[in-house]
Amino acid sequence: MTIHTGEAFASVATPVSSRLEAYLANTVFDRPTLVIDTDIVARNYLELKSGLGEAVIHYAVKANPARDVIARLIALGSHFDAASRGEIELCLSLGARSDTISFGNTIKRASDIAFAFKAGIRLFAADAEPELEKIAAHAPGSQVYIRLIVETSFADWPLTRKFGCDRDMALTLLDRARALGLDPVGFSFHVGSQTRESGMWAGTLDEMATIWHAAQEAGHALSLLNIGGGFPAYYGEEIESASDYATGVMRQVHARFGSVARIMAEPGRGMVAEAGVIACEVLLVSRKSARDSHRWVYLDIGKFSGLAETMDEAIRYQFETVRDGDPVGPCILAGPTCDSADVLYEKRPMALPMTLVAGDRVLIRNTGAYTSSYASICFNGFPPLDVVAI
Ligand SMILES: *Cc1c(COP(=O)(O)O)cnc(C)c1O
Repeated sequence: MTIHTGEAFASVATPVSSRLEAYLANTVFDRPTLVIDTDIVARNYLELKSGLGEAVIHYAVKANPARDVIARLIALGSHFDAASRGEIELCLSLGARSDTISFGNTIKRASDIAFAFKAGIRLFAADAEPELEKIAAHAPGSQVYIRLIVETSFADWPLTRKFGCDRDMALTLLDRARALGLDPVGFSFHVGSQTRESGMWAGTLDEMATIWHAAQEAGHALSLLNIGGGFPAYYGEEIESASDYATGVMRQVHARFGSVARIMAEPGRGMVAEAGVIACEVLLVSRKSARDSHRWVYLDIGKFSGLAETMDEAIRYQFETVRDGDPVGPCILAGPTCDSADVLYEKRPMALPMTLVAGDRVLIRNTGAYTSSYASICFNGFPPLDVVAI
């Protein structure tokens, strides 16, 4: 990742990979396509690793499950956080060792747990007693970490409420896990995706450390702290470099937790977002009446075919067009499907060139995370996002 500060904004708004730029410039796409540069993935991995120090990286496979991405990360020594049998099979099929894969979803199918156990996976997440019972039945003796609920989050894409349990339940679950013959090794949490500054982790880390120390005082010998994901990507607002950010997080972790035998981190977005660019096309530019102050710009990609994270306009991507430099005006940006929910940005309209017309190519920058697989199969007959790894 590039360090995005001050002057750098004007000249290099996004990390420039000449390989990626050359590929985009020399290729004609007949449908929306994500081009992902595995060299940038590798660079991000190494930058995050340098900042994370002794913490072991378990790449969150869901962020981008392209085979070339996973293969490149295996070659670099990354570990993996998988959420399902499908993600586990993907990693194993490319040569990942089972002892480098954690099964981190707190909501698992019993037969998937049995599959994982048979494949040699011994590290599972849980946030409820019935889930521990499933793990004990289908992966006996395995290590488990208890996921804690995060009360405060400054993330642009928070993950609160659905996952984790509170402090009292967490302590109860450690006891319950042991009674079930499992090995309760520690805790996990997720600060929320796209947490833009490392300083924003402070409140969450305070909460987590309180629970960690309470568990130790209650006699639990904890050996694993899983700090989850949250590492940001550049979407137009200044962020720290990946290594500075990771260093900042680890400094705060050490200050609160002291020495921990084993620390895991699960970056997803921070590893792949800046490695990808979507090439797409304008299908229609129109107004709803002669007095309409906003144009509607319809693209051949929308909420159901790769841009799901525009939900509530949470993630605001950067669009580059062949007419950049021409005068701009506000427009409502929408996808191509016959569903009125398929609007990308309306509350905060986008400023795009007034000269934009159907057929113009549009590049959507830093879209390597949560796009290609975060899509419907073929809603309305529009093809899913194609993926090309270079
Ligand atoms: C999605 C997810 C991640 C990755 O989060 P990012 O914000 O993309 O880094 C990490 N851990 C778990 C358990 C997740 O579900």
